[in-house]
Amino acid sequence: MRFTEFNFHPQILEGIEASGYENATPVQEQVIPPIMQGRDVIASAQTGTGKTAAFLLPVMNRLLEHHVDGQVRCLIIVPTRELAIQISQHMEGLSYFSNLSSIAVYGGNDAQNFVAEKKALQLGADIIVCTPGRMIAHLNMGYVDLKGLEFLVLDEADRMLDMGFQDDINRIVKVLPEKRQNLLFSATMPEKIRSLAKRILHDPVEINIAISRPPEKIVQRAYVVYEPQKLPLVKILLKKTPYRTALVFCSRKQSVKQLTRELKHGGFSVGEIHSDLEQAQREEVLSSFANGRLPVLVATDILSRGIDIDTIDLVINYDVPHDGEDYVHRIGRTARAEADGAAFTLISDKEHTRFAAIEALLGKEVPKEPVPEQLGPAPAYHPRQRGSGGGGGGARGGRPGGQRGHGGGGRPPGRRFDRNQPRKQG
Ligand code: AMP
Repeated sequence: MRFTEFNFHPQILEGIEASGYENATPVQEQVIPPIMQGRDVIASAQTGTGKTAAFLLPVMNRLLEHHVDGQVRCLIIVPTRELAIQISQHMEGLSYFSNLSSIAVYGGNDAQNFVAEKKALQLGADIIVCTPGRMIAHLNMGYVDLKGLEFLVLDEADRMLDMGFQDDINRIVKVLPEKRQNLLFSATMPEKIRSLAKRILHDPVEINIAISRPPEKIVQRAYVVYEPQKLPLVKILLKKTPYRTALVFCSRKQSVKQLTRELKHGGFSVGEIHSDLEQAQREEVLSSFANGRLPVLVATDILSRGIDIDTIDLVINYDVPHDGEDYVHRIGRTARAEADGAAFTLISDKEHTRFAAIEALLGKEVPKEPVPEQLGPAPAYHPRQRGSGGGGGGARGGRPGGQRGHGGGGRPPGRRFDRNQPRKQG
């Protein structure tokens, strides 16, 4: 589902485009519509599924469409300062073209930060992302007015309860207006989360994004390369890796067509599958692939789900899939039944953060293989680099999407409260 289908405010769409997102992830697809309808939502979704944008986008959309100045309108409570910073950065990327303001309020002994946070809370930043303890410290000082609050978001709720924040959450919720929209996200749904939800949420829509993990027997490896090294590397991998049939995935059909052409030129016997082919053509290619006449198939994600051919023992991701779910589905095409399989992912400069998000979802790092010497020097892996496609949404004060060129130069960034230099930009 494309983001243009959600009916978002144009400034939100600009932020989405600049962040490099094209299609909504499954959690976004399911969570955004009920939030836009004003419903409370409880969702089980892990980090790496795109859950942050799933709640930020509809909240920001609402705040933009019904403008109110000088009030805290959304409170996002999270377990750790790292998550607070991450969400705040994500928010800055997505709100780059709007004038929404936000600040991260988290612990630490820095008096200067405390003053900056106090100022932002008094002036009424639109969105506050906070850790519970620090928020309570501000509430205790008596200058925080949350009467205009419209949204409460609890993120990683299970972790907050594990860390003993239950009482703090209760204390914060007590000072919020009764009429508000509540969103709760949690990686797991133990009974204590359900009872917290019963107390805080009102008639919530329940969404369950269970992500399956790939079978352990699939050997997963990744190569960190420059974009122009991808094609020669695929050729090398297809030559040196033993396989019966190999499936190469590209996210875009244009890339499928181009890669297929290049591989044919290189002497490989290869077919292609994408949405521009008629059903009959697809079936013909698939049947040649299944019976081994075509040992290599290049395909878009239309083939990442459902096909079950037990001779596939090699999957190559020519690019990093958009989300963890697609990754798991893609590599799950190999090692079917009793067979073994290998899955190689090629990560170019713009894909580091996206791959790191997939690793977070898998709960493990995928070993990085050295790039063959004949391809020349290769880059190092920088999972937290700026400007990585689908990355943290743009760093504080920076342009979202980093290296991605987009129009709109010279437009004002969203209003931010600088933790070191409190001010309200306009
Ligand atoms: P999260 O689960 O919110 O931590 O997000 C994981 C990663 O996915 C972050 O790096 C996001 O920038 C990225 N992301 C979120 N939504 C999308 C999308 N629709 N398309 C591509 N990347 C996304």
